[in-house]
Amino acid sequence: MEKFLNLQELRRLFPNNESCLAFIENIRWGKTPVCPHCGSRRTSRFKHENRHHCNACNVSFSATVNTIFHNTRIPLHKWFATLALLLESQHHLSARKLAAEINVNKNTAWQMLARLKATLSDARERVSDGLNLETFYRQVEEKVKLQTADILQYVLRKIMEVS
Ligand SMILES: [Zn+2]
Repeated sequence: MEKFLNLQELRRLFPNNESCLAFIENIRWGKTPVCPHCGSRRTSRFKHENRHHCNACNVSFSATVNTIFHNTRIPLHKWFATLALLLESQHHLSARKLAAEINVNKNTAWQMLARLKATLSDARERVSDGLNLETFYRQVEEKVKLQTADILQYVLRKIMEVS
């Protein structure tokens, strides 16, 4: 099978937590963050981390609020790699293999897989905009040339719609 998600490219594009968070921010908000608590656009960015402060409701937040990536101690680039490996294996990824690939223990790998699989399955059921994950998989099968970042962006969008 031809690889459609290039893990090497993925690691180059998303070497750390910050690069992933910036990617999620862009998918969610574009250039202007929106407070997930009150909907205000009057926010300020913290100087040294990818967090924002809402000047309307006085709460701080990051782009992962209300997504499956919230409150996880696993760095986002490991989540991104897991998502890529899971899609590439067409959901036949074992916890043992994942643990070795992203350097976490087997129990953690198992939990990550369970969380992602549940969310992907939710996304498949609930997406109704015509361009759903099934279509996406078919396109991949037909070897439509998609770039790794495009694929991830598409899937992350779907995941974040349902989480
Ligand atoms: Zn707010």
